[in-house]
Amino acid sequence: MQTIMTTLETNNPPDVSVRPTVAELLAPLNEIASRSHSLIVNHGARFEVNGQPHELPRYLFIGPKAVEDPIRIGIFAGIHGDEAEGVRAVVQFLQNINAKPELTEGYCLFVYPVCNPTGFENGTRHSYSGKDLNREFWKNSTEPEVKLLESELTSHMFHGIISLHTDDTSHGFYGFVNGSTLTEHLIKPALQAVEQFLPRNASAVIDGFPAHNGIIGEGYDGVLSAPPGIHPRPFDIILEAPKDAAEQKKEAAFMQALQTILNAYRPFIAYASNL
Ligand SMILES: [Zn+2]
Repeated sequence: MQTIMTTLETNNPPDVSVRPTVAELLAPLNEIASRSHSLIVNHGARFEVNGQPHELPRYLFIGPKAVEDPIRIGIFAGIHGDEAEGVRAVVQFLQNINAKPELTEGYCLFVYPVCNPTGFENGTRHSYSGKDLNREFWKNSTEPEVKLLESELTSHMFHGIISLHTDDTSHGFYGFVNGSTLTEHLIKPALQAVEQFLPRNASAVIDGFPAHNGIIGEGYDGVLSAPPGIHPRPFDIILEAPKDAAEQKKEAAFMQALQTILNAYRPFIAYASNL
């Protein structure tokens, strides 16, 4: 425990040359959860690979109660196993809000820090099965991670979904918007806030899609998203950090973006409940 606190306090850059196991990565969070009133570990999303047990880690963070009903947000990282920046950012984000729960007033955050545990441990984009899990959603996929995540997306009916990714072809930060029309009003302040850490990708075409100020309005088929056909649609944001940036800047950018989206969404809910 002493080591963990020291690392947090001195903010040492993580040694990215050594890839931790999922258990090692999440040990500090589980330790915090064991004495936190707000952070809950939810074991039980398990699957087997060649007879070996694996777990899809799930956390619930309950922010201080607000006047309105709790706002349920799903935060997903590491569905591509070689994109560890988002995974580390989410772990750090949970540590941060546990220290300052007032940042999450009115929210229930359902956090999935490692959506592709076998890919994360092997350092591969795809899972052990060789599949890109982020092309498998809502297609009757038999991939166990996808089935578990689809079940989470169906049962929690999130108001908003945020996914973290890294792009090795982009030199700037950008994002995809989907779902509710207000999504664009949430990503704009987030991209602006991120600019204190990383440049924005302002290209007219990013990843083959037309883009405007770092925002793409379409996307790949089969990505992690809300169940098809549900109404109202939640907001759905995919954040993409440039792979070649400094580790600390990428993590700071993700954390800033997450917090900015939460701050920007709260007034919409308050307004809607007063209508
Ligand atoms: Zn990705």
